[in-house]
Amino acid sequence: EELRELLLSRIRDVADYPQPGVMFKDITPLLADPDAFRALTGALVEECRRSGATKIVGLEARGFILAAPVAVAAGIGFVPVRKAGKLPGATLSQGYDLEYGTAEIEVHAEDLAEGDRVAVIDDVLATGGTAEAAVELIRRAGAEVAGVSVLMELGFLDGRARLEKVLRGAPLTAL
Ligand code: 5GP
Repeated sequence: EELRELLLSRIRDVADYPQPGVMFKDITPLLADPDAFRALTGALVEECRRSGATKIVGLEARGFILAAPVAVAAGIGFVPVRKAGKLPGATLSQGYDLEYGTAEIEVHAEDLAEGDRVAVIDDVLATGGTAEAAVELIRRAGAEVAGVSVLMELGFLDGRARLEKVLRGAPLTAL
């Protein structure tokens, strides 16, 4: 509860970003506060340990900022899942629908393999589309999803219900 209060106090609401009518949750005040950032990292490391993860996937771009220190602290490898066209090697791609249009994410095929248990980390779960695509991508690479951890879920968008349908019982944790 104390952690939750600390984290919430360092998230800023920005009205009408990136479009009119959207209230954006800005995590940069949290990143600028070393105590809050450390507390968040520690809680995410705890989740990864609990789930028995052997790899950590961070989702571009804010997911990278959170996942990298967790991977170092947990002593397990970091694997970037990027927007299409950014990774130089052979990739697997997964498309997903946005409110308007579609998007695609990719992972280096050689970064994940059978036997890997992957913890997925991102900053915000909104509709769940991005995380769902990441889950599909990880499975197509032959690996298993150990769990998904986010700083924050936007409950009114119901991303949890969508994601839990594909998680096969793996935990979804929103701090
Ligand atoms: P979803 O695919 O769940 O609809 O959207 C989640 C993705 O969009 C995440 O990668 C997250 O970084 C970004 N996102 C959506 N809304 C917000 C928001 O209000 N604040 C932040 N920081 N990221 C958001």
